[in-house]
Amino acid sequence: MQAPKDADARRAIKPVVVYPPDTLPPVNLHAYQTAVEAYDRIGEVLVPPRDGRAFHVPAGGAFRITSVEGPQVGDLNLFNANDLTERFFSGKTRAIHGTHVNAGDHLWSVLPYLRPMATIIDDTLGWYGFDTFGGGIHDVIGTRCDPYTGKLLSGDDYHYCCHSNLTRALADETGLPLAEAEMHVHDVLNVFMCTGFTRDTGQYFMKASPVRPGDHITFLANIDLLGVLSACPGGDCGGEHSSDAAACHPLLVEVLDGTPPAGWSEPALNAYDRSHGR
Ligand SMILES: [Zn+2]
Repeated sequence: MQAPKDADARRAIKPVVVYPPDTLPPVNLHAYQTAVEAYDRIGEVLVPPRDGRAFHVPAGGAFRITSVEGPQVGDLNLFNANDLTERFFSGKTRAIHGTHVNAGDHLWSVLPYLRPMATIIDDTLGWYGFDTFGGGIHDVIGTRCDPYTGKLLSGDDYHYCCHSNLTRALADETGLPLAEAEMHVHDVLNVFMCTGFTRDTGQYFMKASPVRPGDHITFLANIDLLGVLSACPGGDCGGEHSSDAAACHPLLVEVLDGTPPAGWSEPALNAYDRSHGR
């Protein structure tokens, strides 16, 4: 196709950041970290490889996901523990904070709630930044590995993709039938995963995660949370997923609680009046 004469000029227009988050209340990371250091550990869950587990975190509490035994990626779903319709909104979190999230970023809930469900307060992989391929850690650009895409592209039936692991764990935790629980499973935060888009074709890529045993990421729960975490069958996601081929390891979730940081309060529901012009 013939490019127009002013193609270069059109391409040279400078981009503008769509949602500069400068108007959001600043997160005092130091205060949050100091408060959570004094928290008590009130529970822990070891998520087995190629499986999922659920956990509860009270508002003002915290949870920490730690790599144990070997490099492993986790797929995280979050719900309001009192209302499953309020769940994590990967797309808007991406629009507000970027393709990969770091300490100080929030995990937002879906419309019409749109409030910070959790805030990342500590991340031992924060040093990674972006590599020369454009890869970063903890993405909100992938979705979750699932048996439907596997069926579509390879014809296989694989039952231990993150989508299925999250579905089984949510069904076990809530007592919902499997088919009903599945409808609540949503796009994830890809914990510890190293991903990006290829520069030439814009395709989603993954590469072996730099996570090592002992690395962890910590979140403050801003509302009562039901979390569900899958230990991805892709292991460190350096090769393939949606199969039993990769070396897989467990992930540890610790739930912490104590006196919340000064100035913290449970965020209100989004203030938009929902009249939508009518
Ligand atoms: Zn997965």
